Amino acid sequence: MLSFEDIIQPATAFVPDDGGRRDAGTLRRVTVEDKKVINSKADLNQLVPFKYKWAWEKYLAACANHWMPQEINMSRDIQLWKDPRGLTEDERRVIKRNLGFFVTADSLAANNIVLGTYRHITAPECRQYLLRQAFEEAIHTHAYQYIVESLDLDEAEIFNAYHEVASIRDKDEFLVPFIDTLTDPAFVTGTPEADRKLLRSLIVFSCLMEGLFFYVGFTQILALGRQNKMTGAAEQYMYILRDESMHCNFGIDLVNQIKLENPHLWTGEFREELHELFRRAVELEYRYAEDTMPRGVLGLNAPMFKEYLRFIANRRCQQIGLDTLYPGAANPFPWMSEMIDLKKERNFFETRVIEYQTGGALSWD
Ligand code: FE
Repeated sequence: MLSFEDIIQPATAFVPDDGGRRDAGTLRRVTVEDKKVINSKADLNQLVPFKYKWAWEKYLAACANHWMPQEINMSRDIQLWKDPRGLTEDERRVIKRNLGFFVTADSLAANNIVLGTYRHITAPECRQYLLRQAFEEAIHTHAYQYIVESLDLDEAEIFNAYHEVASIRDKDEFLVPFIDTLTDPAFVTGTPEADRKLLRSLIVFSCLMEGLFFYVGFTQILALGRQNKMTGAAEQYMYILRDESMHCNFGIDLVNQIKLENPHLWTGEFREELHELFRRAVELEYRYAEDTMPRGVLGLNAPMFKEYLRFIANRRCQQIGLDTLYPGAANPFPWMSEMIDLKKERNFFETRVIEYQTGGALSWD
C-alpha cells in the first residue's frame, strides 16, 4: 500500500532539471514568475501558466503550416532535368551545389536543437516550439532527399558535398564549433561565461545559419521557379523558406528574451565579438555565391549577392540590437522580400492549407 510519503515524493521523471533531488517540502505550483528562458528551476513539464505567448503562438502557426514533400508533383522537374537541352550547365551546377549544401544543413540544424539547444532552454513554451522545429528540420531533409531521388542525382556526390566541396565545407566548419558547444554533455549554463556561450551559439544559428547561410540557395532556386524551371523543387523551397523564416524569427525572439532577462550578458566586448562573426559569415556565404555562380546565371550573379548578404546581415544585427555593419546596403532582390512578407499577410498556400487536414479533422463516421 502507498504511504503518504510515496504519494508526495515526486518521481524523477516529473522533476527533470534538478534530477528529482528536490524534497517534497519545496514543491509548489508553478507561477509565471518562476519561469525563465534559461536557468529556471521551475518544473519544466508544466506548459502552463503561459508566460512566453510569442513562443506558443509560433508553435500553433508552425503546426497550421504543416506540409509533406511528397504532396508536391515533381514530374515537370524530372522531364526538364532529363532533357539534355532543358537546363544550361550553369543552372545544373546551381542545383547540385544548392542541394549539396542543404541535404546536410537541416540535419545539422536538427542535431543542434535536439542534442543541444533543447536541454538548455527552460521555458516549456519555447521547448514546445523547438520540438515542432526539430520535426520541420526532418521534413526539410526529407524534401531535399526527395528532390535528389526524383532527379536521380548521384546521392553520394550530393550527400558528401559538405565534406568535398570547399565553399560548402567552409560554411559548415564555421558552424560546427557553435553546435559542439551546446551538444557537449559537460556544458551547462548558469555562469555569465556559459550563458554567453549559449547566447552566442543561438545567435550564430538563428541569424547566421538559418538567417543568412540559407539565402543564396533559396534565392537561386526561387529564381529558377520564377523562370518556370524546376517548379516542383521551387515549390518545396517555398514551403521550406516559410518554415525557415519562422525558425529564424523564433531564434531571434529567444535571443531577445534572454537578453531582456539577463542584460549583464550583453557587454561591449561580446557585441564586438558577434560583429566579427557576422563579418566572417557574410564572407563565407559570398564565397559560396561565387562558387555556385562562376558566371551570371538566371539573371543573378555573385556580386549582386554581396549587396544582398550585407543587407540581410544588417537586418539581423538590427533584430538582435546590434549596430548595423554595412551602411547603405540595399536589397537587390525585392521580390524575395515580397515572397517572405506575402506569406505572412495572406495565406500563401491558401488552397493547400484549406484542403490539407492537418491531423485536426478526424471523422468518426
Ligand atoms: Fe531551420
